[in-house]
Amino acid sequence: MDDCLFCKIAAGDIPASIVYQDDVMIAFEDINPKAPVHTLLIPRQHYHNLSDEIPAELLGELFAKVHTVAALKGIEESVYRIIVNSGVDARQLVQHLHIHVLGGMTLPISAGTVD
Ligand code: AMP
Ligand code: ZN
Repeated sequence: MDDCLFCKIAAGDIPASIVYQDDVMIAFEDINPKAPVHTLLIPRQHYHNLSDEIPAELLGELFAKVHTVAALKGIEESVYRIIVNSGVDARQLVQHLHIHVLGGMTLPISAGTVD
């Protein structure tokens, strides 16, 4: 989609520190990490958020790859948390579906954020 930051990252038009990529998805470091490990996993195809009509197969592929991202970041054996903000009131700032993968510390108890 034109004018979407994460589409541009997926296309290689904006640089990012890439952790993992394949034909379907790409994982890269969050530019403003909230934990020692804070990686974002996105589908290459543009979806706004979880309220879009996302094929279940794609959702399955994305969530099935979270542990690979965690392993590549060295936190699979400890703990990690995933967050998907869906919608403005959930504080979704970038309107391209993304899974936050957070870890590398004892994460605070909160309503799903690390702030
Ligand atoms: P959300 O609030 O769920 O939409 O999260 C958006 C995330 O994207 C935030 O954690 C930002 O720090 C992150 N972010 C914004 N711009 C970039 C960028 N150019 N590269 C990597 N992460 C980014
Ligand atoms: Zn996009």
